[in-house]
Amino acid sequence: MALRLDSPVEYIKGVGPQRGALLREALSANTVGALLDYLPFRYIDKTRYTPIAQATQDGQYYQLKGQISIPVQSGYGRAKRLTAQLEDESGAMELVWFQNYQWILDKIATPQEFVVFGRLKKGNFINSMAHPEISALNAENPGQSLRWEPVYSSNEKLSQKGFDSKGLRKVIFQIFQQLDLGTFPETLPQYILEKFKFPARAECMLNIHFPKSEQLLALCRQRLKFEELFFMQLLMVRNMYLRKKRTKGIPMTLLGHPYKEFIENQMPFTLTTAQEKVLKEILTDLQSGSQMNRLLQGDVGSGKTIIALLAMLWANANAHQACIMAPTEVLAQQHFQTLSSLLQNAGISCGLLTSNVKGSERQQLLARLQSGELSLIVGTHALLEEGVQFKKFGLAVIDEQHRFGVEQRARLWAKSYGILPHVLVMTATPIPRTLAMSIYGDLDVSVIDQLPPNRKPVKTLHFSEALRGKLYEFMKQQIAEGRQVYIVFPLIEESEKLDIENLDMGYEKLLEYFPIPPYQISVVHGKLRPRDKEMEMQRFIHHKTQIMVATTVIEVGVNVPNASIMVIENAERFGLSQLHQLRGRVGRGADQSYCVLMTSNQMSQDAQERISTMCRTNDGFEIAEADLKLRGPGDLEGTRQSGLLELKVADLHEDQPILLAARKLSEAIIRRDPDLTHPLNKLLKDRLDEDSGAPIGRIA
Ligand code: ADP
Ligand code: MG
Repeated sequence: MALRLDSPVEYIKGVGPQRGALLREALSANTVGALLDYLPFRYIDKTRYTPIAQATQDGQYYQLKGQISIPVQSGYGRAKRLTAQLEDESGAMELVWFQNYQWILDKIATPQEFVVFGRLKKGNFINSMAHPEISALNAENPGQSLRWEPVYSSNEKLSQKGFDSKGLRKVIFQIFQQLDLGTFPETLPQYILEKFKFPARAECMLNIHFPKSEQLLALCRQRLKFEELFFMQLLMVRNMYLRKKRTKGIPMTLLGHPYKEFIENQMPFTLTTAQEKVLKEILTDLQSGSQMNRLLQGDVGSGKTIIALLAMLWANANAHQACIMAPTEVLAQQHFQTLSSLLQNAGISCGLLTSNVKGSERQQLLARLQSGELSLIVGTHALLEEGVQFKKFGLAVIDEQHRFGVEQRARLWAKSYGILPHVLVMTATPIPRTLAMSIYGDLDVSVIDQLPPNRKPVKTLHFSEALRGKLYEFMKQQIAEGRQVYIVFPLIEESEKLDIENLDMGYEKLLEYFPIPPYQISVVHGKLRPRDKEMEMQRFIHHKTQIMVATTVIEVGVNVPNASIMVIENAERFGLSQLHQLRGRVGRGADQSYCVLMTSNQMSQDAQERISTMCRTNDGFEIAEADLKLRGPGDLEGTRQSGLLELKVADLHEDQPILLAARKLSEAIIRRDPDLTHPLNKLLKDRLDEDSGAPIGRIA
């Protein structure tokens, strides 16, 4: 019976209802087409026969060809075995079986040439293979032609029903026997195939499963990767285009007071080239008449705050109010202080709204916001509450995006007056370019990839337990010079209790070296009431304490320029981006700062690589790239919730060139044919129409 891609899997010869149900359940393959999408995860090289004399590497797989001698049984009980000699012109090898003797004896009863495949075990006198695959090579059975053989992943349940890798291979082979390749639908327009010299879809699928050559396989894999990335990019680029076309924004075209006045007279420093570039991108958006939806990435300390302020002043200069929203009370306060001091001579008032602002103070603040008297406001989630109303809301700056959900954004929009405010999302978690393109591909992204001048880079040291005494001496020395120290303990998500015990123990040990008084120590962890946590933080910020012992709650944004040492306990248990974030808490003042990574002596390979990456570089983007390589995109900060990155063939780390090509092509296509109405793009339009409804568009 002829199969089509949409035929049920049961129609494949040899599958039937029972095994079909298993394929549906275990591989979610309902149709022939879906089963073809179950790709091999590697291939075995059976493209040639190795002369036996050259098969010498222990543990390697070889395909050999030769005559098999009459087998001999030997040994008793557990040592019982069956052995035979395989021989070709070049030499001989021993084949060994520990069970299934009869089956083997039957199989090799007739003297003839055999193809043997297996893993070589090096011996003193003669090399051997245990339980090799064997097939006869004769006129009736020309056997397998030389090939790359696909290997599919399987599990116990599948294997029990005959769907081990070999069984799956058989079923998929059978599909190609029954399938008319001429009816295999093409998914890419001819002009794209030609541009990249990709094989047709049918040929590609055939060769992905049963490659004719290594070169063709490589090209087919390229095509599949490209296709996967291309449709993702095309969808995002088109969504971005549609959003810009549909969502009108407030045109802010005036270069006026207070922006102008601030730039001319109040700037505390000159912007770095990177800041200039990013500011220009933002101002261009604000003037465009479309709604800005921009992600601003910049490593800790790269100077995002001033950019946010300038954007807000630009909105003010265009008769609109602006807000900046921070994920925590402490951060909101810090922003408020920073902005207030920057603005003190500019005659601009800035408000602070958190849940701690209460009573008449709150009433007054809200009234000023609603009347339009207040042009800038800093706050926490309290800004989202119902009573908060702007007169003319024009720009929302959101700091540290991954703490903000879609729902919260919607609540912010409710405060606009009919036309959506511009949005600038700032993050200090650098994301590699390719990843940003994949998760935020429908947003505009700006990057500050340069630190302000005269920063002393943080020195990062790796200490093991044996050096703890030395560490404490060093801490004492720094404290004596008036510096402060963070000590961070890992957060164990499964067990907050253990976590705090761990912290308590560390704290006890610490007290032996740093008795209170003369020392003062802040302790902060997730179990504290927000008020107490707040108080402990404030004690440290105001230098009432010299040491802050904490779980990772201090990760985001806290700014204590006087702190010069960050000690990370059990550093091997932290992810790279977290380590980098933590390190960013020091190095904010004029003094040399240090990050000390404490680990046990025994670490996994991964952990070693993380630690050495940290010691090697301070560059957040380089670290993010290393993180992507080590962990894959699924686990990276900020992507976890997105669910967007379920790539089957492409790898964002390895396949950057393919992604970039896919992005470039998508942009070119949408620029020329935004609605994909050109007949040449029909396949593309059909595919996007099918895919729309995919969870794209994280912001607004
Ligand atoms: P982040 O990007 O982590 O939010 P901040 O905006 O807090 O960084 O800036 C870190 C520090 O660098 C602040 O003290 C800020 O005043 C200072 N800074 C920012 N830009 C510059 C610059 N162009 N020249 C000198 N100092 C700068
Ligand atoms: Mg910041």
